Amino acid sequence: SKITKDAILEKAKELNVKFVKLQFTDVFGTTKNVAIPVEQLEKALDGDIMFDGSSIEGFVRIEESDMYLKPDLTTFSLIPWKSEYGNVARLICDVYDSNGKPFAGCPRCNLKRVIKEAEEMGFTMNAGPEAEFYLFERDENGFPTLNSKDKGGYFDLSPIDLGDEVRRAMVTSLQGMGFEIEASHHEVGEGQHEIDFKYADAVTTADNILTFKFVVRKIAMQYGLHATFMPKPIFAKAGSGMHVHQSLFKKNKNAFYDANAKYQLSKTALYYIGGLLSHARGYAAVTNPLVNSYKRLVPGYEAPVYIAWSEKNRSPLVRIPARRGVGTRAELRCPDPSCNPYLALAVTLKAGIDGIRKKTDPGEPVNLNIYHLTEQQKSDMGIKSLPANLSEALDELEADEIIKSALGPHIYENYMVAKRIEWDEYRSQVHKWEIENYLSIY
Ligand code: ADP
Ligand code: MG
Ligand code: MG
Ligand code: MG
Ligand code: MG
Repeated sequence: SKITKDAILEKAKELNVKFVKLQFTDVFGTTKNVAIPVEQLEKALDGDIMFDGSSIEGFVRIEESDMYLKPDLTTFSLIPWKSEYGNVARLICDVYDSNGKPFAGCPRCNLKRVIKEAEEMGFTMNAGPEAEFYLFERDENGFPTLNSKDKGGYFDLSPIDLGDEVRRAMVTSLQGMGFEIEASHHEVGEGQHEIDFKYADAVTTADNILTFKFVVRKIAMQYGLHATFMPKPIFAKAGSGMHVHQSLFKKNKNAFYDANAKYQLSKTALYYIGGLLSHARGYAAVTNPLVNSYKRLVPGYEAPVYIAWSEKNRSPLVRIPARRGVGTRAELRCPDPSCNPYLALAVTLKAGIDGIRKKTDPGEPVNLNIYHLTEQQKSDMGIKSLPANLSEALDELEADEIIKSALGPHIYENYMVAKRIEWDEYRSQVHKWEIENYLSIY
């Protein structure tokens, strides 16, 4: 079912839309937008809206800064809250360069490029994320704090769970934007929440993740709270992850399912898992992009540290949920919600299809709690760890040609430069821990 330009113009009139946000993202997954009055919508739908890309992080050099926004007509959606100046809608766009080609620095176009590779092998990717976040109070000046009055824990029921009402408002708004919400619940941490929505093809899911974060933040604000997707806001409390469930379909059938195979997992599934494991150290800098991401990837919480897979245990990097048939999937547990979802899906899909191409053996599943193994046992079993910090992750990315090719040279180079600067800034800071441990002793 193709949506036409005329249908959208009609819909905009019907919904009394006055402004349209044309959205796209930079390499870090930050949503950017150009807002146009509805009178410009026809021009926008023709892909004729231009913007200057030179001031967008990681985009272009000044001399090639004219960019075009090509809206994806299927993403037209009303933003479900009132503004006193009339209704606002949004369209998610691909960025094209002045030669009319998909711009190499556009993460959404780049994901499509990797998807095409999978399609040439006969596969389409489906992905479903579980994004976790904290709701914190704001101080008298409106700045976010680390406090939450909420004393609820995993799956707790209100009235302990103060986030209940806020979460319901979030779910309602998301549904208003066409999301199929599967579940929402209180998470392990005080003030921590999760809302799950239905899986879709990779581009739609990446779009949805950004819309999701936008809605969650906005609704939290309306309740005087701050929603944060920072991976580890509080030391010694559960971090916020974004497990990404993924599967490949071939001719509308789940290609991971084989009723007669061991574990009822097809060769395709096993090799895909093999690829996810063998490239994990290479793509961590993308799925876990912040200095802070690596404070979450430590033993003792639910976050993965070790590169292994399991159909039972939740400590390894890849878990295979019990569901079979159309729901057969691999759950990648390292990503966190601070990642750029277009890039994260591009690198993990690339890792998986590389596994299929090379027939990468994932080894035996590790069905015990790896946190309880000794260093010797882990090394005997060939179990490696994820990178310990952003610097190590960037070195690993630099060494993984397959993952680099999933970003393309333009995105890779810009990403690398910015992330090395981020690390250098961080590593020269004097940390609170150092003062506490060294100042009085030395
Ligand atoms: P968990 O058991 O880890 O808490 P959830 O039930 O919270 O997992 O989330 C499961 C996610 O997996 C949802 O987004 C769901 O839509 C998605 N999912 C279900 N089937 C598939 C599939 N075949 N491929 C990809 N994702 C899927
Ligand atoms: Mg879940
Ligand atoms: Mg669940
Ligand atoms: Mg969770
Ligand atoms: Mg999960």
